[in-house]
Amino acid sequence: MTKAKLTCPHCGGTEEVEMPKTYCQIFYKCTTCSKLIETIDGFCCVFCSYADVRCLYSARHEEQIKTLRMDIVNLTKA
Ligand SMILES: [Zn+2]
Ligand SMILES: [Zn+2]
Repeated sequence: MTKAKLTCPHCGGTEEVEMPKTYCQIFYKCTTCSKLIETIDGFCCVFCSYADVRCLYSARHEEQIKTLRMDIVNLTKA
């Protein structure tokens, strides 16, 4: 089980939230101020936007980007 410390952009309150493993969470309702926390444009989920750790999907995306860069390097060498 992966937990992330999510910081609310509205009230600044922090909360331990369990990260979903099967999907990217785009919205989260703050339990302190009851406002909706939305994902920032360009980020994959609320955790990548406001939490102290990136989500599991983000790590996978970065891995793909690395592989893609490797391919480009290999292509320029060939
Ligand atoms: Zn809040
Ligand atoms: Zn994410």
